[in-house]
Amino acid sequence: MNQYSVTSSSVVKEKASELGFHKVGIAAVDRLDAIETQRLQAWIELGYHADMEWMANPKRQNIRLVMPEVRSLVCVALNYYTPHQHPKGEEYAKISRYGWGRDYHKVMHKKLKQLSTWLESLDAGVKARYYADTGPVQDKVLAQLAGIGWIAKNGNVITREYGSWVFLGEVLTNLELESDRPHTEHCGSCTRCLQACPTGAITQPFVVDANRCIAYHTIENREEKLPETITPHLQGWVAGCDICQDVCPWNQRFAQTTDIKEFQPYPGNIAPQLLELAQISDQEWDKRFPASALRRIKPEMLRRNALANLDASRQRMTPKVIIFDFDGTIADTVDALVSIANRLAVDFGYRHISPDQLALLKNLTSREIIKYSGVSLFKIPFLVKKVKGELKNKIPELKPIPGIKEALIELQNHGYKLGIITSNSKENVTEFLTINDLNHLFDFIYSGITIFGKTTIINNVLRQKQLKPQEVIYVGDETRDIEASKKANIQVIAVTWGFNSPEVLAKQNPDYLIQQPSELLEVMNSH
Ligand code: SF4
Ligand code: SF4
Repeated sequence: MNQYSVTSSSVVKEKASELGFHKVGIAAVDRLDAIETQRLQAWIELGYHADMEWMANPKRQNIRLVMPEVRSLVCVALNYYTPHQHPKGEEYAKISRYGWGRDYHKVMHKKLKQLSTWLESLDAGVKARYYADTGPVQDKVLAQLAGIGWIAKNGNVITREYGSWVFLGEVLTNLELESDRPHTEHCGSCTRCLQACPTGAITQPFVVDANRCIAYHTIENREEKLPETITPHLQGWVAGCDICQDVCPWNQRFAQTTDIKEFQPYPGNIAPQLLELAQISDQEWDKRFPASALRRIKPEMLRRNALANLDASRQRMTPKVIIFDFDGTIADTVDALVSIANRLAVDFGYRHISPDQLALLKNLTSREIIKYSGVSLFKIPFLVKKVKGELKNKIPELKPIPGIKEALIELQNHGYKLGIITSNSKENVTEFLTINDLNHLFDFIYSGITIFGKTTIINNVLRQKQLKPQEVIYVGDETRDIEASKKANIQVIAVTWGFNSPEVLAKQNPDYLIQQPSELLEVMNSH
């Protein structure tokens, strides 16, 4: 027995298990052949390593440049899975599982050191050097060669026993050890990770383009801003990204809770608030991430990542649908409605409206007008019906508010969906829109029977179209429009070109008060 065969693979493996490694295998150095090296070289030539220059280190392609006397590679894996789940909700930041607990380098190094020291203690001539994600070693290729698991289509190493939630480590030694058979690949026809990746970073099976990968950008990219191609897809990730691992059926079926206490998450790491991380000071960062792999993400990077998520979520919440009132907001119907109202005054028992009184009415809220008019409440539905009927005859004479058509076209060109909610009849509105060549601009028209029923209609629209209140904004010319929008919890733009005066509209505190249709786009763009 010479110094290179003072022990056997099975004894080394037993020792590794005793030290707490969950998987151990031996890779044959001479099998580290051209194929894997070529694969790495091709990936680098495509520029898929982004600016991770260490990936192009020639030592990665020749293990003998790392340790000339190397004969065997002892590869190990530590399971780090804990059964906690990533937070749901736009306000939370997501941290990849690898960073939840104590820095894996520290845990891994301690055990690797023990294994190396033990190996070197076997004979004075035995040499051992260890690495855990820090040296110029192709750890995934080695893990596959050593039979630990296979390099999967998402680029991670999957083990049969723990899925891909494992940290890898290696001990290079001059000992002659019997090697294991390389692991076979078991992704089969599955493509779940390719489909789930929000940025399309897995350009083809087994090829991950770091330039498109959220994990790369949140951990390695040191630029002041993240690329615009990435930010809309962050989905809350501020440190790494587990999406392509979470969807993997091997992880879903075989993940096991680790027995390593240090990998249990630090309390604040599972569901931190994005707002809190966006403002974290350098000192707080230092206190909050002690002995953590997350320290690679410097405070300014963490703030940048959290801010990018907040911006993206704000953008998603920007109103996409604009709902218009019809009478007085799109169609100039005020005069027509006053003349109809005057004609019906005697029949319905309310006061005739003179031009002076009209000026006065414009300063009253919708409820005050009803009170002032003296019309009995129970007659209102009949009155509304009658007015709608009479208005029908006047539709061909009605004109759009000056400038509204141009404003609507601009809004549509900017991607907003437009709709109408009105207490006028759908028939009247459709006819008006058709005559004035406006019908193609609107996605929907909803009509309500009652004067104060707009809140219900708004809520129905939100439900039917599966919209969040933040995605919708209402545009109306009357105080009752403001009232209805507030009750439905949506923002409102009050316009002064319709029935109510600017003063009474302002008193109702709309979110915006505008004088001309051309201001609509400015308001929308200001979100
Ligand atoms: S880590 Fe995220 S962004 Fe990167 S490949 Fe996986 S799913 Fe895509
Ligand atoms: S999701 Fe499917 S294709 Fe992707 S790594 Fe897992 S098994 Fe392989």
